[in-house]
Amino acid sequence: MSGSSGQQAVFGPVPSRRLGLSLGVDLVYPKTCPLDCIYCELGRTTAHTAQRGLFRDADEVLAQVEKRLAEMETPPDFVTLAGSGEPTLHLDLGRIIAELKRISPCRVAVLTNGVLLADPQVRRDLALADVVIPSLDAVTQEIFECINRPAPGIIIEDVIAGLKAFAKGFGGRLWLEVLLAAGINDSPEHLAALATTARDIGPELVQLNTVIRPPAVAGVGALSLERLEEIAAGFGLPCTVTAPPRAAAAGDRGDLERQVCEMTRRRPCTISDVAAIAGVEPGRAERLLHELARQGRVRAENFGGETFYRGV
Ligand code: SF4
Repeated sequence: MSGSSGQQAVFGPVPSRRLGLSLGVDLVYPKTCPLDCIYCELGRTTAHTAQRGLFRDADEVLAQVEKRLAEMETPPDFVTLAGSGEPTLHLDLGRIIAELKRISPCRVAVLTNGVLLADPQVRRDLALADVVIPSLDAVTQEIFECINRPAPGIIIEDVIAGLKAFAKGFGGRLWLEVLLAAGINDSPEHLAALATTARDIGPELVQLNTVIRPPAVAGVGALSLERLEEIAAGFGLPCTVTAPPRAAAAGDRGDLERQVCEMTRRRPCTISDVAAIAGVEPGRAERLLHELARQGRVRAENFGGETFYRGV
């Protein structure tokens, strides 16, 4: 598939909940994904496909990463393939990971929905990464369809088989992310089945998450922190609850306004997110967001009692 979003492929660095300081790399265009999760913070999937393609030009992406790294005083902890859709859709994934490791001192992480792991070539490509974080929110087709809304023909048993095959041969770190939405995939029966499947896959760690940003479908609800911790304690393998973003020191952050606009276009952010990402006082982040809202460059949305700002 070809095309262009006008967005840069490289974003950040951003303080990541799981990866420290992470330079993001977006291999596909907004929003290209085999899934259309009801909780997705990127909004509705517009290119709903499991068909791999070339999307962004690999050499251009690598040149952007090299340029951004050269601008930074200290390298980030990770270069992370994530962003506007599913990175494993990119046919040059293996070469891009190998080149990222050659041109940067950083470890490479990949956030994936795991759907394409049923394909042995995708497993070979991903095996070059240092950290792979696949998600798995459902173990029955009914709940999979409900929460992840897959493109036609994607069967959850195949996805799980792919995850197991990948875990078996992967020499890096594998952290399985499970997002729980209230009343959708958090019944005791489904949680027990999820825990059993997670144990069969055998990741180093399971990370429980919930809906913390405005979801694609209004009304999708979060679980409380207490409930997540209770579920984590009963999961039967190393399991953590993903904490809210924490402040981290970034290197050269470039122009603050540009960065905040870019960041909020990629995902809605609170004032504290912006303060953490930009390394500024919350008061300054608030003034900046209010000014950007006044200029019509971001818009405020309420979710779960918090105000999020989305770039327009
Ligand atoms: S949450 Fe991830 S897997 Fe789900 S639709 Fe959004 S980008 Fe795709």
